[in-house]
Amino acid sequence: MRYRTRFAPSPTGPLHLGHAYSALLAHDMAVAAAGDFLLRIEDTDIARARPQWETQIYDDLHWLGLTWPEPVLRQSDHLARYDASLDRLAADDLIYPCSCTRADIRAAASAPQEGDPAPIVYPGTCRTRPMADRRPGDALRLNMARAARAVGPAPLRFRETGAATPPCPTAMELTAAMGDPVLARKDIETVSYVLAAVLDDAFQSITQVVRGADLLETTPLQVLLQRLLGLPTPIYHHHRLIRDAAGKRLAKRDDARAIARYRADGITPQALRTMVGL
Ligand code: GLU
Repeated sequence: MRYRTRFAPSPTGPLHLGHAYSALLAHDMAVAAAGDFLLRIEDTDIARARPQWETQIYDDLHWLGLTWPEPVLRQSDHLARYDASLDRLAADDLIYPCSCTRADIRAAASAPQEGDPAPIVYPGTCRTRPMADRRPGDALRLNMARAARAVGPAPLRFRETGAATPPCPTAMELTAAMGDPVLARKDIETVSYVLAAVLDDAFQSITQVVRGADLLETTPLQVLLQRLLGLPTPIYHHHRLIRDAAGKRLAKRDDARAIARYRADGITPQALRTMVGL
């Protein structure tokens, strides 16, 4: 099968050195395999996505010397397709509407143990609500216990070609660790990243997902969604993260590391490649 990968940034801020590394690595791997490198704009977070950041993504990546086939897939143009998958999950009785606020969830969860930094797991308050009861503003959550029954007890394995050891929990273990994840948001009428990325990797026939190690822990849930929806599981390559001098992962707000800042300072694309170790 022809090697096909993608770089899938969200236009919610300037791309920084970490994004440059991710895009360059994915591009280099595609070129080495005589395959395809695609760009996808993950703009489902309508509250934070901005056209100016999208324009800057194109400018920064062109400056780095990258090319990709046009037209670029912009997720906000595909919401109807994501809805069709939510309908399918609803028909299989795997999702339910939820009106809980963050505060409700915190209040219903048992008190965290001292020294336990684990995030609060959704306690399942709305789990028995049928889809017919969906009200405007409700989120949609995946019923993990049902999902686990549907896919069976085998671990959620995937092939990883990066350095990290892939987690491969069973769906039951994943359920205990994360509770029922939100697949469609309620504050805005949109689908969550975790589902949109899975649907588009399949829609775009992506064979290799090259992305940062911060998404390694999300992958078993994405494998679960692939199994529920009858989609193929690509090969994953989770790469090291580019960190700042203090060892912290770079974030969009780290403007000092923005590619645009380096461009403005007159650094060459080649020097930037060297800076990220490529
Ligand atoms: N849109 C995600 C981000 O900006 C990346 C998703 C992915 O590569 O799977 O972090």
